Amino acid sequence: MGRIMRYISTRGNIKPVSAIEAIKLGMVPQGGLFVPERIPSISQKQLYSWINLSYDRLAQHIFHFFLAQDFSEQEIAQNVQRVYHKVHFESDEITPLIQLDNRLFILELFHGPTGAFKDLALQVLPQILSMIIKKLSLSSQLLILVATSGDTGKAALEGFKNVPGIQIVVYYPHQKVSKIQELQMLTTEGNNTHVIALEGNFDDCQNAVKQIFAARDFNALLNKKGFELSSANSINWGRLYPQIVYYFYAYLSLLQNKHIQENEKINFVVPTGNFGNILAAWYAREMGLPVEKLICASNINKVLTDFFHNGIYDANRPFITTISPSMDILISSNLERFLFEISNRDGKLISNLMKELQDKGKFSLEEPVKNKMSDIIFAGYANEAETLSTIKSVYQKYNYLVDPHTAVGVKVYNDYQNIVQSKTKTVIAATATPFKFSKAVLSTLLGENSVHNKEEFVLLRELSEYTKLPIPKMLQDLDKKTTKKLSLYPKDKAKQALLELLRI
Ligand SMILES: *Cc1c(COP(=O)(O)O)cnc(C)c1O
Repeated sequence: MGRIMRYISTRGNIKPVSAIEAIKLGMVPQGGLFVPERIPSISQKQLYSWINLSYDRLAQHIFHFFLAQDFSEQEIAQNVQRVYHKVHFESDEITPLIQLDNRLFILELFHGPTGAFKDLALQVLPQILSMIIKKLSLSSQLLILVATSGDTGKAALEGFKNVPGIQIVVYYPHQKVSKIQELQMLTTEGNNTHVIALEGNFDDCQNAVKQIFAARDFNALLNKKGFELSSANSINWGRLYPQIVYYFYAYLSLLQNKHIQENEKINFVVPTGNFGNILAAWYAREMGLPVEKLICASNINKVLTDFFHNGIYDANRPFITTISPSMDILISSNLERFLFEISNRDGKLISNLMKELQDKGKFSLEEPVKNKMSDIIFAGYANEAETLSTIKSVYQKYNYLVDPHTAVGVKVYNDYQNIVQSKTKTVIAATATPFKFSKAVLSTLLGENSVHNKEEFVLLRELSEYTKLPIPKMLQDLDKKTTKKLSLYPKDKAKQALLELLRI
């Protein structure tokens, strides 16, 4: 048995809690995010002993560090075997590594049931919560609320469907997600899945959910009716530790195929929004994975790029809707965890910074902390035209199709190479299947006119015909499935919508 792991708050405002408590609560009720009390350290010897492990076996080792001893070896084994399996992922390898040239590799994170990397964690979390319900003999049902700009909603619905003891409710902005994303959500099966469209934008949905969490009377009413709120957004630690696994997996794949030698450092490029995925890469590095740089790639909503360049986080800027919508974010929630670690776990400082962010939409860092960040992170961004032209150039150069989010990553990697000319082997995280964004992809490959006035399903087929790539299973026949009735509400009626859907 490994050492027990407890969780502390980034704002130093609570006593350590168990993994069970941290995951069930989702975030620290007094404000702050849960982080592990210590970061596990993995020796090179241990790392190399994992070289031939399948994805689920590797996951079992990594999960154990973060869940011990709240969950037994057998429980963890059962969890990973159920999740990282052919039934849910369209690839034996779960996250296959594709070689583009002798230095550059793509880690495909989009073979899960909804075609985006979020599946890797959102398939795990529901099973873990379900075990927690049993362990605590909870008599109430867990009510998971999610706000989505498109990808998280479907991944959460798919993960939580038919999980006993849990109801899941997703709020999405009406007509602000793609047709495919909307259909993906509305065609989810399961008797515990609920979808609410609000008349507003993503921020309105996020606010609605936050308000429900904060509304005491409303919570009391929910409790009385047998519901306890929890969160499946990436502020929940239960979303983060599963993402550490694929960074180890990528490194071990490189080693196994002799692309790198023992101890050789590599770079990871991560298309970033909420700073969750790249934070998982940082944890992997802290745990002992030989990583040189983490390359943080943003779209034109480049609040993080500016932050890493000048130490000032400033969310007071226009929100721009882009072709990489899952990165259209001005408040990167998981940055709080990174700042906590990089400031030597100064909870007081983090408390102050987050208060400034809430009050003024802005905070700044002292020089030494800023410099410490730049030792590890290179940050850059791509505008819309650059994103589109990168999709095309990657296709022409490597005959490999990337989605707009991944293209942002490739563009920023090219910028990095122009400055550094590094020989370090580099892995780019491919966060979504290009077929989810057929319109943008086809418009750059074949020209604007080729997509004009065409339905998304027509574009999907045309992209498949043009590239000779099959339409991923999870996107096939979406237009033929039964859809839920659209539940559309004004943005200030989110609570009412919830009560009606749950028949309270
Ligand atoms: C969520 C998402 C991102 C951003 O990931 P973060 O963890 O929020 O930084 C990037 N690409 C895709 C396709 C996503 O769905």
